[in-house]
Amino acid sequence: MKIENLCVKRLIGDVSGATTRGHKIAIKGGYVYQTFQGGYTLTPLGWSVVHKIENIIRDEMNAIDGQEVLLPVVCSADLWRETGRYDSMDNIAKFKGRSGADYVICPTHEEVITDYARSVLTSYRQLPFMLYQIQTKFRDELRVRAGLLRTREFIMKDAYSFHETQEDLDKYYKRCFNAYYRLFKRCGLKKFTDVLASSGDMGGKYTHEFQLIHETGEDTLYICNCGFRANKEVVDENNPMCPHCGKELRKVRGIEIGQVFQLGKFYTESMHMTYTDANGNERTPIMGCYGIGVTRVMAAILEESSDDNGPVWNMETAPFAVHIIGLNGKNASVLGLAQKIHDDLTANGIETILDNRDIHAGEKFADADLIAAPIRLIISEKNIANNVIEVKYRINDFDTSNMPHEIDVSDFVARVQDMIRILSHN
Ligand SMILES: [Zn+2]
Repeated sequence: MKIENLCVKRLIGDVSGATTRGHKIAIKGGYVYQTFQGGYTLTPLGWSVVHKIENIIRDEMNAIDGQEVLLPVVCSADLWRETGRYDSMDNIAKFKGRSGADYVICPTHEEVITDYARSVLTSYRQLPFMLYQIQTKFRDELRVRAGLLRTREFIMKDAYSFHETQEDLDKYYKRCFNAYYRLFKRCGLKKFTDVLASSGDMGGKYTHEFQLIHETGEDTLYICNCGFRANKEVVDENNPMCPHCGKELRKVRGIEIGQVFQLGKFYTESMHMTYTDANGNERTPIMGCYGIGVTRVMAAILEESSDDNGPVWNMETAPFAVHIIGLNGKNASVLGLAQKIHDDLTANGIETILDNRDIHAGEKFADADLIAAPIRLIISEKNIANNVIEVKYRINDFDTSNMPHEIDVSDFVARVQDMIRILSHN
């Protein structure tokens, strides 16, 4: 891809209206475009990052036996009436079709998935199973925050598991818990943790949130050295003492990136989902549910791992692996080599962006920082004279001091493939 063809507007200088560094970088780098208040367009750059986050999530959900589905965004109100949530949830966007039927734009999908699962389940032999989807949600929030941290429309991964026994749900809950630790780490998040939370609108027994500890977060968390961690719904804020060891709790801010619930039988009972157990008796399955705010994960990475010049992705989340800069936009041998490297890397399946524009070098480097490909190859007359390509890195959570800072022109494809392998922790 040539940089001038990338349909993204990057901004120079300060960005007005952005309240956090991550938001500022998202706007400045052209990762998102605010279409309306609380609703953002993901640009080719932003969508590329989100798509990569989605694929990490898919990979880890499939590894715990998840089965991906896609449920409708718009749903008949009747399903929501079965559980009573049509009237009890206050952020559901509702509308009437031309025939007079009531619809909702789903803010979450427990009813919809339970309706599907009950159409399939007959015997205990089918249990347990987990279904998940990655899809757009809309919540008609009264208040939205500037930026990507609280939006009305967002992409979410929601997963739902069904079990015969509480013990089986406990076991699966733990597996999902561990998968969350793996996948957030793969996304490049660092200071994240699980905290005890209240279950709110979702019903059920108990729940944990996954929170990135960060000063821009809107959630208040209480943390103790003994290992106790909870959000403010769980802790008595007038007397924030640890319920385990009695010491005073430390208060920090967090960005919620995921949540896992034990839903019990609220949905399966109210929606009459049953199966026949080994003794021929009719039973109701127990349910768990596991969410991740996918667009929120990108926002959280931007808050935690950007600098003043742009984002710092890792190899798995960066929109491009390699950014090629032809330093002299008028020199035919520079332009020719830069183009050849681009074409050869692309032909080898490496996502590459090429900057051969005839503009000031400072502008090129500023753009490279905003796009933030982990590997930057610089082609100049001087480097060509020495038969080398200069390499620079911009990568999250990786010490590149021992990585090559020059590679030979003759075998650059193999060398770049090596670098990508090492930077991917493989
Ligand atoms: Zn404690």
